Amino acid sequence: MYSDSDYSFFESVGASFDKAAEFTKWDKGVLTQIKACNSVYRMRFPVKMDDGHIEVIEAYRVQHSHHKTPCKGGIRFAAEVNQDEVMALAALMTYKCAIVNVPFGGGKGGIKINPRNYSAYELEKITRRYTAELVKKNFIGPGIDVPAPDYGTGEREMAWIVDTYTSLNPGDIDGLGCVTGKPITQGGVRGRKEATGLGVFYGIREVFNMPEIMNKIGLSIGLAGKTVVIQGLGNVGYHSAKFFREKGKSKVIAIAEYEGAIMNPEGLNEEEVFLHRKSTGSILHFPGATNIANSLDALELECDILIPAALENVINAGNADRVKAKVIGEAANGPCSPDADEIFIKKGIIVIPDMYLNAGGVTVSYFEWLKNLSHVRYGRLEKRFTENLNSQILQQIEDLTGKKVDNEARQLIMHGADEVDLVHSGLEETMISATREIVDVWQKSPEIPDMRTAAYVVAINKVANAYNELGIFP
Ligand code: NAD
Repeated sequence: MYSDSDYSFFESVGASFDKAAEFTKWDKGVLTQIKACNSVYRMRFPVKMDDGHIEVIEAYRVQHSHHKTPCKGGIRFAAEVNQDEVMALAALMTYKCAIVNVPFGGGKGGIKINPRNYSAYELEKITRRYTAELVKKNFIGPGIDVPAPDYGTGEREMAWIVDTYTSLNPGDIDGLGCVTGKPITQGGVRGRKEATGLGVFYGIREVFNMPEIMNKIGLSIGLAGKTVVIQGLGNVGYHSAKFFREKGKSKVIAIAEYEGAIMNPEGLNEEEVFLHRKSTGSILHFPGATNIANSLDALELECDILIPAALENVINAGNADRVKAKVIGEAANGPCSPDADEIFIKKGIIVIPDMYLNAGGVTVSYFEWLKNLSHVRYGRLEKRFTENLNSQILQQIEDLTGKKVDNEARQLIMHGADEVDLVHSGLEETMISATREIVDVWQKSPEIPDMRTAAYVVAINKVANAYNELGIFP
């Protein structure tokens, strides 16, 4: 039995792996290879700041697995970044990609800075220098390693990365595919920004449509009217809240940020909360909501679904006992510690694990990468063809029946898919299939204790199968 205090983040990912490996039939050597981080690049580089002083920046890029290439994983800007954390996140990427059938190995990057302490120009210099270091060591490229946004980074940083990469690799026709999460005007794909939050929604919705699981936890089928608590109103938290409210008709009763949390049993509108925080500088004192001074207390509220969407290890041996949610949807990476997992198994709380639930980002990143390699926007070739064809079919139906189709239905039937429609549809299919595959393994093996272990079993089987088929070089 392991304990939080004995394990680093990377070791705790390894502990979950070992727990699942017992339910597979693979050779010990293959399992050891899958678990190991293949390449760790730790760098230090100087950057001249606005006031002229030189700061030495600590940064990392880790490639966890090369069973499929390129490697793929976000870049995080945070003061807490360290080698162990980047290794753990890279490992999770390997398993995540395997589960959602995205043909990449796992990677991750991190720069140890608090981005709030730097001007935009300083951040640009740090990002560009980091990219140049990756280029020098052959740690970035459309066929090598493809970063993406993560905590503390977004489209802006990805645009700086692609610009630096393509400047240093002139004439590389696939250069745009060196990074994903770019602005649409720079080769990004429509639907990427909201992808992780939307994937979280699709994954949880699928679990809530499974009668056998809902019976187990005593909830009715479906998301309508279900109460949701969200930690973190960044990219993932904001979009999760949006889709639960708009598509799920659920009630987001509390939102937690680092300065505190707010609660309203009638439901909160994430857009209004976001604007309030932007104008006042704090989530607190939102009209109609109650303040919760200690942000972490929000994790212990009575609710149907708790969605940690900020940082890792926020639910651990110290507070897991007090969590009252029926389902925890891990939108962040590693929000629940191994100790917390053990407590939730005993309490019958279902944890929908990070490694596939937040795979929406990497899934749509994969679509973006494919778009960059094919050099054409999704839907460009077939949209008008579909609309013309649908118009002819409608005309025939109207002629044959002598009745007119009303305007709203006409728009719906006529519509040829835009890029965003295709991306959302590909994401929905991916999340539904992955959820079913994991739950299937879980239900077929009653000795598998939780969904995380079942997800690891699925991932291990896929990666091990790749090694098995490829053999070991030389
Ligand atoms: P982000 O920087 O956009 O947002 C994170 C939010 O969490 C910020 O608003 C921040 O203020 C808040 N926060 C920080 N500490 C907090 C605390 N102690 N309590 C409450 N709130 C706190 O980052 P993001 O992209 O939304 O990523 C969030 C998590 O999701 C990370 O674990 C990341 O690894 C994971 N993730 C992100 C993506 C993606 O596509 N962006 C994909 C997969 C996983």
